[in-house]
Amino acid sequence: MKTETISKKNGNTLNGFTTNDIGDDHLFTNLNTPMKATAFNMSDKDKKERISILFSEIMDVIGLDLTDDSLKGTPDRVAKMYVEEIFSGLNPKNKPKIALFDNKYQYNQMLIEKNITFYSNCEHHFVPIIGKAHIAYKSSGKVIGLSKLNRIVQYYAKRPQVQERLTNQIANELKTVLETEDVAVVIDAKHLCVASRGVKDDTSTTITTYYGGEFNTPSKIIELQNYLNN
Ligand SMILES: [Zn+2]
Repeated sequence: MKTETISKKNGNTLNGFTTNDIGDDHLFTNLNTPMKATAFNMSDKDKKERISILFSEIMDVIGLDLTDDSLKGTPDRVAKMYVEEIFSGLNPKNKPKIALFDNKYQYNQMLIEKNITFYSNCEHHFVPIIGKAHIAYKSSGKVIGLSKLNRIVQYYAKRPQVQERLTNQIANELKTVLETEDVAVVIDAKHLCVASRGVKDDTSTTITTYYGGEFNTPSKIIELQNYLNN
């Protein structure tokens, strides 16, 4: 049954390419993280128990001795880390609650929150993406607490991700909560699937951008880039 599901998956194609054709190329298909309709039928407690069992099987298959004192707690640790930390952003119950305030200062220019450090994981290899996000918005009459900008980045980072989707998901959330198109997101990140394996390029970083509304003009893009470069 298991084997059947796997071989069926490998037979599927994306834009006419098979999984083997795609190889290490990081394609993504949708703004939304692809989730099953039944994703939250299982409790977090049950998910951790199941992941622990499955991860110990992986460790066993690669030949590790799970009776070793150093290794025996690893399946439980990985399960807890997956559900409660590094993939906690899959569950809408963990989405940050956003409170908006009236723009009493009448500050009508761009606000930039730069160098928001995040840790995510590549959905194609399940190894870390480490980067910095820079966010800008122009108030439509409402302002957001600065820490919430950081929390929105962390929420979407804590999923299996591709950088393009992470950028767009953050931009989309900002547009929705701030009720404006005038948002910008710039992400500069290192992908360990590129650095530590595959082509083993330790120096390259990937930059993705979203310039919405008033930010999507050559002069605003240059202005924003000047702030980010200093
Ligand atoms: Zn990858």
